[in-house]
Amino acid sequence: MELIALPAFDDNYLWLLHDGRDALVVDPGDAAPVRDALGRLGLKLQSILVTHHHADHTGGVAELRGATGAQVFGPARERIHEPFIPLRGGDVARALGIGWRVIDVPGHTAGHIAYFAGDVAGAPLLFCGDTLFSGGCGRLFEGTPAQMLASLDALAALPAATRVCCAHEYTLGNLRFAAAVEPGNEALADHARHCQDLRAQGRPTLPSTLGIERAINPFLRSREPAVTQAVRAQAATATDEVTVFAALREWKNHFR
Ligand code: ZN
Ligand code: FE
Repeated sequence: MELIALPAFDDNYLWLLHDGRDALVVDPGDAAPVRDALGRLGLKLQSILVTHHHADHTGGVAELRGATGAQVFGPARERIHEPFIPLRGGDVARALGIGWRVIDVPGHTAGHIAYFAGDVAGAPLLFCGDTLFSGGCGRLFEGTPAQMLASLDALAALPAATRVCCAHEYTLGNLRFAAAVEPGNEALADHARHCQDLRAQGRPTLPSTLGIERAINPFLRSREPAVTQAVRAQAATATDEVTVFAALREWKNHFR
């Protein structure tokens, strides 16, 4: 199995997984980079996995489905303008011979889902759309802070070796914010240097792993005393774990 991040738009990644013959793609907001990769590698598109309804994740679905006949999976609680197999938390979607466990992760959108498989060529794999980013999390467009915190808790509980396939290359900006929240976090400083090197070489910083994210991502660390204290110094409203998380998200929204 090979995993490839296809760049699209300014900073999206369309994740392509293939076995040398059949392929699946996650959140194809644009059909062109997927068509090019399928042609170049001689692959047949078998499945399309959609995490949420935003156009930068769904814009290429109709064209790819029309051209290839691929089966489309998507979140049962969202509207996607294509026929698709509706999934909710606890369902298992079969694609490329792999069972993908569906996890409900509302927050960025109301019905956002993530796809997890425990063993893809020897390691767990997570497609989390715009819920978890390396060093950050998605904006709360439709959900509440309590929902997003619970969604991130569900993802954070997956194995440390899980490869985290996020839908955007936001890592360097996120890590600048993370360093402002936790200036004393050495794992974070190390990871930031590593990611700066990757970007300087034009390479993706993704996939990350859950082990790394638990050590460096302030949105998975909002209950750590250092993070809680930093947030409280910014916002008097930050009292319990949900209001601390909400204030952390708010701080990031205004961080430059
Ligand atoms: Zn989105
Ligand atoms: Fe997006």
